[in-house]
Amino acid sequence: MSHSEVFAEVKALLERMRPEMIRLQGELVRRVAVGPDYDGPGEGEKAAFLADLLRGWGLKVDNFPAPDDRVAEGARPNLVAWLPGRRRDKVWVLSHLDVVPPGEESLWESDPFTLRVEGDRLYGRGTEDNHHGIVTSLMAAKAILDLGLTPERTIALALVSDEETGNLKGLAHLLRRQRQLFSSRDLIIVPDAGSPDGTMIEVAEKSILWLKLILNGRQCHASRPELGRNTLAATARVIVALEALKEEFGRADPLFEPPVSTFEPTKKEANVPNINTIPGRDVFYLDCRVLPDYDLEQVKERVLALGSAAARPLGVTLTVEPVQELPSAPPTSPEASVVRALQEAVRQVYGREATPQGIGGGTVAAFFRQVGLPAAVWMSVSQTAHQPNEFCSLNKLVGDAQVLAHVFLMAP
Ligand SMILES: [Zn+2]
Repeated sequence: MSHSEVFAEVKALLERMRPEMIRLQGELVRRVAVGPDYDGPGEGEKAAFLADLLRGWGLKVDNFPAPDDRVAEGARPNLVAWLPGRRRDKVWVLSHLDVVPPGEESLWESDPFTLRVEGDRLYGRGTEDNHHGIVTSLMAAKAILDLGLTPERTIALALVSDEETGNLKGLAHLLRRQRQLFSSRDLIIVPDAGSPDGTMIEVAEKSILWLKLILNGRQCHASRPELGRNTLAATARVIVALEALKEEFGRADPLFEPPVSTFEPTKKEANVPNINTIPGRDVFYLDCRVLPDYDLEQVKERVLALGSAAARPLGVTLTVEPVQELPSAPPTSPEASVVRALQEAVRQVYGREATPQGIGGGTVAAFFRQVGLPAAVWMSVSQTAHQPNEFCSLNKLVGDAQVLAHVFLMAP
């Protein structure tokens, strides 16, 4: 059989695996893998179920647990299931076991931890984030197993903990303790972000900088403004002055969407409770997503300088404190093998051209890139992650499983 005939068989088999995909989603949804940071039981039960399932298929499954005495098992599981290929170079698909809590339960139309199927939609907490990745990668591997095929590269399915709460007990642990598992020749796919039509391959992330801006003036009665120093009026001037950041750090890079750095005032803390008082202290926050080649120290300096100059005429002083500072990891090359393998697979399955892109958000792939491993983030999203009534599309599960199977079978 030719390559394309083999792939046609795999594709057809995955079409027929819809009932199995729904069943697996159901099993995953009802095992509540909320992490201990959110007062949940952790990923233990879900990991045990998946390890049994994968061993039942004949795969070798390793666990690289990260000690954590907040969960009953005393450690957070990090599984790797292996399907040996002709070569030792690997294709990794890394998905995460943990889910975020349901949030406001009254906003859910059904129990978040019982799968509900409605047409093409599979509802439940975790169905998209990140069961989509778990189901597509496992089903792609199962189709290859069921047809008795041997993939070119060894398939490594990683199922990690703690993605939603910092990754220290998940991928960061795996890379710290088991760095030798990964090689820069491996193809590393993280199905945890993307676009609805599967044409976005995320290869780069902006630096993230969250700043707290504290304005200090003097409180007084609103009828006697000359006795006070109005920090809300100063806040307005500071926000307008900070618009200059967009020009000062104005470089554009077409790899990113949007192509420029962004500087957005977001949260504003409450000041005085009554209308007839001039506030003497205001606090607001700035969310900055900065292109990788700018230095965050320089951004902080300019925020302080521009803001102070704007507040000074009102006698108000400004202090700036970083809340979060994440310099971006070196991007994965848009020409990396993993990007090309995904592009070819998306072309074959969806008939569309996928393009490498940078985004403003942060993903777990940054941990790979930080240690020089070229990872690509890709999936067809339903864009319901972390929301009430989270769902994933069954058609996208099938299509994305076909894409991963294509990479498994065809990537050189
Ligand atoms: Zn996720």
